[in-house]
Amino acid sequence: MIELYNTLSRKKEEFVPMEEGKVRMYVCGPTVYNLIHIGNARPMIVFDTVRRYFEYKGYDVNFVSNFTDVDDKIIKKAIEEGVSADEISKRYIAECKKDMEGMNIKPATKNPLATEEICGMVDMIQTLIDKGYAYEKNGTVYYRTRKFEDYGKLSHKNLDDLRSGERALLVTGEDEKEDPLDFVLWKPKKEGEPFWESPWSEGRPGWHIECSEMSKKYLGEQIDIHAGGEDLVFPHHENEIAQSEAANGKEFAKYWMHNAFLNIDNKKMSKSLGNFRTVREISEQYDLQVLRFFMLSAHYRSPLNFSADLMEASKNGLERIVNAAENLKFRMKNAKEEAITEAEQEAYAKTEEFVGKFEAAMDDDFNTADAVAAVFDLVKYINTNTSEESSAEYLKKLLERLTKLCDVLGLIVDKEEEMLAEDIEKMIEERQAARKAKDFAKADAIRDELLAKGIILEDTREGVKWKKA
Ligand SMILES: [Zn+2]
Repeated sequence: MIELYNTLSRKKEEFVPMEEGKVRMYVCGPTVYNLIHIGNARPMIVFDTVRRYFEYKGYDVNFVSNFTDVDDKIIKKAIEEGVSADEISKRYIAECKKDMEGMNIKPATKNPLATEEICGMVDMIQTLIDKGYAYEKNGTVYYRTRKFEDYGKLSHKNLDDLRSGERALLVTGEDEKEDPLDFVLWKPKKEGEPFWESPWSEGRPGWHIECSEMSKKYLGEQIDIHAGGEDLVFPHHENEIAQSEAANGKEFAKYWMHNAFLNIDNKKMSKSLGNFRTVREISEQYDLQVLRFFMLSAHYRSPLNFSADLMEASKNGLERIVNAAENLKFRMKNAKEEAITEAEQEAYAKTEEFVGKFEAAMDDDFNTADAVAAVFDLVKYINTNTSEESSAEYLKKLLERLTKLCDVLGLIVDKEEEMLAEDIEKMIEERQAARKAKDFAKADAIRDELLAKGIILEDTREGVKWKKA
């Protein structure tokens, strides 16, 4: 049984999917106007791990995460650079995907782009107007917050508290609103901004309506899990609930998951402090697997502090795991015995305990800190219960067990397995080019390099074929 903390009830609850064996999950993605920073990376890593654990447990996960590709920040950047907003967002989506690959984040089932879903947003806004939950003033459409009785149920704020803080909510040019608590669903364009047609004005959608629409389109009116950083609880997720539930007349998401903040050297990450760290900068110093391992060393609902010391500690920790896997592989290659012995069967059975500990930790609101501890227990056991005398089969089973648990955490311990087909093809092309140039030494070197990675080349009449050893 998986239990997870639901921001909505402020309790840990048993996860019961809407549909047997399936998880419908939506994670709010980044606004793409710059390289992502490590604060953006935390929810990506956390919820990718949540997804991986559901899959490990046999669930079929439909994982949707958007890119917000129209926004004031994107437009501002485009003006600064003298290029189109589209060029900026396309560039930073590509860069973001590179970073995500480095952090071993599985590609989402779907990454919808806000700009490709405007039609659906216009329809949803129209539905809200028709139902009396929204109104138009001078080309702008606002959500009538007070009309939605459950407003505040996620952030546990009540309307009167919000009312007393309403000055902060007032934005210049929005004094035409019926109520200061109302928020924008559609706004007219300003000169030079990208825009779309709508019944109210040429303009663009507000940020909150994007997620309501994309979640509905790709996952349905009701979903199991909606997730994001805790900074999104209010107003973003609160407003999403107000929009979706008013438009669809149904409960939007059953479980709301939020990860805690990431600090840098015990300070909040901010532009003014100049302590922003991009994932790209980290990647110049470390393998991004280290960043992933660091993020998972704490529970996702605990604030996490990023520092050079902690990154070094994570690097060493990850190395211990990878070294254990390397040793197993080395011993497998040189094993004298093939078949597992009875004593080894028993020794292997004892590792069930670590799997049990790992699953218990993950079942308990995805406690990756304890899950990592279980992996370390397994590593220690492997190091003390294998030797040159071990059989290949026994070593292989241990390696598979270690790899499987690490895979849930998204940690690659068996690097050779991860060699991509396209990389192999590229090396084959280089080898062909070397042969053509009669540089046989180079061609042989490439063949050997591939062989060391477990890839066997076969020269056939139809060309070079490869297979895994
Ligand atoms: Zn969102």
